[in-house]
Amino acid sequence: MFLFPTRCPICGNRLHAAERDICSRCWAQIPLSGNRAKEGNIVEQQFWGRIPIERADTFMIYQRGARSQQLVRAIKYRGARKTGVSLGRAMARQGMENGFFKGIDLIVPVPLARRRFRRRGYNQAEALAQGMGQVNGLPVVTKGIRRVRSTSTQTGLDRMTRMVNVEGVFQVEDALRFRQKHILLVDDVITTGATLISLAQSFMQACPEIRFSVFTLAQAASLYIVPHHGVLPDEDEDQPWASGGHVDLKEG
Ligand SMILES: [Zn+2]
Repeated sequence: MFLFPTRCPICGNRLHAAERDICSRCWAQIPLSGNRAKEGNIVEQQFWGRIPIERADTFMIYQRGARSQQLVRAIKYRGARKTGVSLGRAMARQGMENGFFKGIDLIVPVPLARRRFRRRGYNQAEALAQGMGQVNGLPVVTKGIRRVRSTSTQTGLDRMTRMVNVEGVFQVEDALRFRQKHILLVDDVITTGATLISLAQSFMQACPEIRFSVFTLAQAASLYIVPHHGVLPDEDEDQPWASGGHVDLKEG
């Protein structure tokens, strides 16, 4: 059965029989965050004082011009939906090792605006969420919450402008579905956290007794001390990019 793409979505090289989704050369150059759901990690800190956050984590570090950016672009713009699902599964396996999903009731991928969804054919956050749900068994909920408008490109905007830019972007249409729930918000990349905070705040307005966890595929490298790209990160417990163990994208 050939259910996986035969070419690496990052470099375009043909995959070997033992490789799945991403070739081993590219995979080796993707810096993992190494947060491993540690309390008070750099992702969690983005939400302190803003939303009731239980846990937060990111799988890898997003570096401009590096393979991590190409990977994010592939699942976002080049239709590598299956790669997104596989990454979601890898995220969930890592999360389960760290007890990340304890107490979480459901997964909500950050919705895309309808027009953008039609153009791309799928929502990359939803692909990640579905992969996660396949592994941890949590329901993925895409109904009852809607993105009423797209945000313009956030690149280059300062933090305050971004916060204003995402106000009123989401609308909860079925508050009962989310009442008193612990929701896991899933997105591809977190930069300032403005989009996720805006989504959480829409939920909080509709259902006051609600809690959140956040798991993203990648976090912008500006918050990390990242090794020169092309250089393999050391597996050092004290370094934020340490992978802390073997991670593979194969079916588990
Ligand atoms: Zn490759």
